Amino acid sequence: MQKQNVQEKDAQKQKRVLIIVLSVLLCLILIAVIVAVSVTQTKHKHKFDKQVVSEEYLVSDATCTQRAIYYYSCSCGKKNSETFEYGEALGHSFTESNYVYNGDATFEQDGTKTAKCDRCDVTDTKVAEGTALSNVYTVEFVDYNNEIIDSQEVKPYGDAIAPEEPTRIGYKFIGWDTSFTAVLKNLTVKAQYVKIHTVTFVDFNGTVLDKVSVENGSKAQTSASPDRAGYDFIGWSFDLQKEIEADTVITALYRRKAFDVKFVMPDGAVIPYTYIDYSGDKAEEKTVDAQTVEYGFSAFAPTCPDCYVDWENMKAYSFTKWDKSFANITDNTVITAIYDSEYNLPVIAVKFGKNGNGDDIATLTICLPSNLKMYAINLSIDYKPEVGSMSIESATVNSASPLWVEDNGNGGNQLVINNNTKQFTFAWVDANGKSFTYTNVLSFIINLDGGARLSGDTFEVENSTVLIVSSDDKDFQKITPVIIYRVVE
Ligand SMILES: [Zn+2]
Ligand SMILES: [Zn+2]
Repeated sequence: MQKQNVQEKDAQKQKRVLIIVLSVLLCLILIAVIVAVSVTQTKHKHKFDKQVVSEEYLVSDATCTQRAIYYYSCSCGKKNSETFEYGEALGHSFTESNYVYNGDATFEQDGTKTAKCDRCDVTDTKVAEGTALSNVYTVEFVDYNNEIIDSQEVKPYGDAIAPEEPTRIGYKFIGWDTSFTAVLKNLTVKAQYVKIHTVTFVDFNGTVLDKVSVENGSKAQTSASPDRAGYDFIGWSFDLQKEIEADTVITALYRRKAFDVKFVMPDGAVIPYTYIDYSGDKAEEKTVDAQTVEYGFSAFAPTCPDCYVDWENMKAYSFTKWDKSFANITDNTVITAIYDSEYNLPVIAVKFGKNGNGDDIATLTICLPSNLKMYAINLSIDYKPEVGSMSIESATVNSASPLWVEDNGNGGNQLVINNNTKQFTFAWVDANGKSFTYTNVLSFIINLDGGARLSGDTFEVENSTVLIVSSDDKDFQKITPVIIYRVVE
């Protein structure tokens, strides 16, 4: 019990001390706040006593005669209207080259010259040294090697007179190195030169076409127009837009001309030329109507047909020669095959066209060499597609006398058309049952009916034979004729 009271008393004591300490602390904080407020509430009074030299306070820059001016300022940075000077005035500035001679020299005394200040209108006048009229200056003109060309005496502000332009081999005179007007001292004036280069324009074979002199660093020009037979001029070996810096030889460049060379039959039909082209990745066979042949080179003869049919006269010829040489081509050229010797085999010339009624027809003409006579002919014709039929419209000798006679059952001329096998055969015997011969042109006109087509690969004369006797009527021969087709548009 007693112990408990002591404890309570201690606790109450501690509480009281804590309250006192807290109260003192509170008072201190209050005083500090009051002091702080009163300090801040005290009004700042500007004091413009600072001389700050900066752009901010600048009134005017320094001039020739006036120092720079600035505003005074307060420690807080504010400026007022009071000013102070700072630094030094710039002083006047006169540039020597601006002085102009006043033309007031006498024999005894130098004249004066005057210039204006670089910044203001103030002028300065001073003695123009050496201008006394009694003075005389020597102006020497010298060559590149200092050899004196001319020497002249010139009064102050007088002009020397340029001597005749000097010459120097390999160079061009371009002027004098120093001005010699308004002379005010002894002068040496030196000739100036630029190196001259020789530019020679030559042809492919070295022939000089033009020779020009070009100043160092300039461009060469020429009026030469190179011309070489068989070639096209394509420019020069040196770019004429480039500057010349040495003696230069410039060569004409050419490209060989190329020409078209065509080989044709007597009627103008092109004989195609087949060759192997090695220019690609692999060799390739190509067929062209015209060969490209470079100037002076030879064309290659194409393989021309053995036989040429003169369709006007229905005669067959063999190739003899070309109408001109093609060993040295110098232009676009057409070379024509000449067929002027009789062809030595029978020829069946097949011509496709239309008759007077507009129907498709094929005219078969058998052309014989003059030393042979025909005894019989077996024509085998294959036509595709396998539609339509053939019939004979006429059979004539020399396009005149009709050959066709109905089979008299007794021999006579026989024509058999088998429209199933698409073949027909023709043979003839004379009235006595004896075979006879024709020495002339024999023609058949065959109607192609019902869609039998006209063209080389749909109407073919194949496996045909001609029985021939020679002109002495002794030796029989069975000959396979040459067959030539032609479509008449
Ligand atoms: Zn202030
Ligand atoms: Zn000035």
